[in-house]
Amino acid sequence: MLITHTFVKVIHAFNQQYNRAIFHLMKKIVLLFLFIITLPVIAQQDIKTLKYCVDPDWMPFEGVVNGKHTGIASDYLELFSQSLPYKFILVSTNSWKESTDFLKSGKCDLTLMLNSSAEREKYLTFSLPYFFGPNVLVTKGGMPFIQDLTAIGDMTLGVVSGYRLLEEIPMYYPEIKIKVLSSEEAGLLSVNQGDIDAFVGSLYSINLSINTLNLQSVKINGWISLQDKLRIGFTKPNAHLTPIFNKTIEKISSKQHNDILMRWSDVRVVKQTDYTVLYYFISGMSLLFIVFLWRYLVSIKISNALKHKNKELEQIREELLFVNKELEYLSFHDNLTNLYNRHYFMSTLNDHLNQLARQEIDSCILMVDLDFFKKINDEFGHAVGDKILQQFSALLLNALRAGDIAARWGGEEFVVLLPETDNNSSLTLAKRLIEAVEHHSFDLNINLTISIGVSQFKDNDTIESWIERADTALYQAKNEGRNCIKESL
Ligand code: GH3
Ligand code: MG
Ligand code: MG
Repeated sequence: MLITHTFVKVIHAFNQQYNRAIFHLMKKIVLLFLFIITLPVIAQQDIKTLKYCVDPDWMPFEGVVNGKHTGIASDYLELFSQSLPYKFILVSTNSWKESTDFLKSGKCDLTLMLNSSAEREKYLTFSLPYFFGPNVLVTKGGMPFIQDLTAIGDMTLGVVSGYRLLEEIPMYYPEIKIKVLSSEEAGLLSVNQGDIDAFVGSLYSINLSINTLNLQSVKINGWISLQDKLRIGFTKPNAHLTPIFNKTIEKISSKQHNDILMRWSDVRVVKQTDYTVLYYFISGMSLLFIVFLWRYLVSIKISNALKHKNKELEQIREELLFVNKELEYLSFHDNLTNLYNRHYFMSTLNDHLNQLARQEIDSCILMVDLDFFKKINDEFGHAVGDKILQQFSALLLNALRAGDIAARWGGEEFVVLLPETDNNSSLTLAKRLIEAVEHHSFDLNINLTISIGVSQFKDNDTIESWIERADTALYQAKNEGRNCIKESL
């Protein structure tokens, strides 16, 4: 009984205790439930909603896939969401153009990634830049690498409508022919089809589009100095958010930036060195070298040719000189005996006659004829006769003094001028000559004699009369038996 009573009491007490515990537990659960239910409402009271517009077609920067924001911008938005008390709501648009219209009309509060520009500053306030990306040029393959927009020349350059580049390129490079295109995709397709020569846009998005569209014949083929500096753009009513977001931007670490870039960049640009200038330089230098070498070789060739020609000319000149001398010799000499000829003798005699007229000197002429020469010819032949004529001439020259002029007058007849020699001296010389001939042993032991006529110049003599008188004296010598001398009186 006592045990039963105690048991009932314990049970009762336990029940009471249990009920109280259950009650407290239930109370705590209800309170917790109420707290959980009301928590978002409480939280939501401190969180401001921000509507943002994006470029729906600008991957990898940003895009909209199945109504969800994606790309580099969405990763940065995640970072902003983590550290700032804002709820970001995506406002769907069909194009970047529509997004900018929405920003202008206030349907969006901000956009996450864009370059600042003068035009955009009119309706947006910009944060600090937080993403930097190069802009590149796309052309068909096979074209030389384009170092900068300055190298575009007269190519047609495609730029997407509404992009900041469309504001800045005409401003900095007014001479470039620009074609405005609706999107990057349209631009790349235009290059591919050859409608435009080049297209400019962001490296990351262009690289992705080329891969996505599988464009084989276009390639990233140049850089431009205008860089993408992407910022958050706030509509003017939300301009006050700029410093708040700037603080967050400044806190983003390099690692966070790199992680985002690595996740989205699939850039496989094979950097192509521009050898064009080098090619031109090498070609130019080679051309210069060839020209100089050519000129050098030509100058050597010309100089050698000139040397050769000069040598030839020198040789010709010497030959001419020799020929002239020979001609001169031939024109003054008898070719059988090598004595002076009649022509030379006459001209010398003429000169001497002028001298005689001026000076008181005596001069004589000897006219010499070989005796019975015809016989020699007849007996021994004409060739032997010639030989005898030559031997006599040598003998004659040997008998004369320097200054005496002996010439062949014709046939077997010779004439000698003895300048500054009077009649007696001339007779002595003639005698010596006759004796020399008489005693000379000619070929074939032929005996030869000569006859000589001597005439001394007289004041009233002419050349003809002087010679005539010598000739007459010779004729007399012949008549008187030959081998003798007769003088003209
Ligand atoms: P004379 O004593 O009277 O002078 O008699 P000659 O025979 O010497 O004279 P002539 O006038 O009768 O003959 C001269 C000869 O001389 C005739 C000619 O054939 C010869 N004679 C002339 N010129 C040459 C020559 O160049 N060579 C040779 N071999 N003979 C010549
Ligand atoms: Mg004779
Ligand atoms: Mg004669």
